[in-house]
Amino acid sequence: MPQLPWAHIDTVLLDMDGTLLDLHFDNFFWLKYLPQCYADKNALSLAEAQAYLTPLLASYTGQLNWYCVEFWSKKLDLPIKQMKQDTAHLIALRANSDQFLTRLQAAGKHCVLVTNAHRDSLEIKLEKVHLAPLLDVIVSSHDYGYPKEDQRFWSTLSDKVDFAPQRSLFIDDSLPVLRSAQRYGIGHLRAVLQPDSLGSDKDCAEFVPSTDLLDLVSNL
Ligand SMILES: [Mg+2]
Repeated sequence: MPQLPWAHIDTVLLDMDGTLLDLHFDNFFWLKYLPQCYADKNALSLAEAQAYLTPLLASYTGQLNWYCVEFWSKKLDLPIKQMKQDTAHLIALRANSDQFLTRLQAAGKHCVLVTNAHRDSLEIKLEKVHLAPLLDVIVSSHDYGYPKEDQRFWSTLSDKVDFAPQRSLFIDDSLPVLRSAQRYGIGHLRAVLQPDSLGSDKDCAEFVPSTDLLDLVSNL
């Protein structure tokens, strides 16, 4: 893998779910726990609940609502925030993400969390994993009203946070999000190869894949 030119990178923009945190929690929550709760509430079989929810969830992909706790609570009449708290024991860091951030911090890099997660999800997760002290700025795209897939997210970010796109590294596990960051002019990009520790490797398409976050800082 090509090494990162750290002398030309001041800011590291980091996705949360699937990048710093194991996507296993989210996959379990949306693909297993939520369909089961929906089935129980509406006296459906699990297969019936999944048949209803899978296309419904897919129809909001890439939109801010897809990530919105309040939106799904209303739409499905389920206490999503409470359900996340009930399953919070599954929230975990991806391997080495805390050491990776510690290394960046020691090297004086500006670390910015940029997540599409809703503030309610963010709160539950950061309570569980204690990453906040290792981050300089925490941004939820819900604060701006546009998801990372939208160019307006990036222009709002550059109004509010001091960073030079060309001198920034962005790491994410979503190809549409990486493409949006690239289009905006983020200089250095890495795609997470295995966002869910129990899942398979992703197709990283045109992006350089990252397996172990610590490998990225081996030359820092
Ligand atoms: Mg992600």
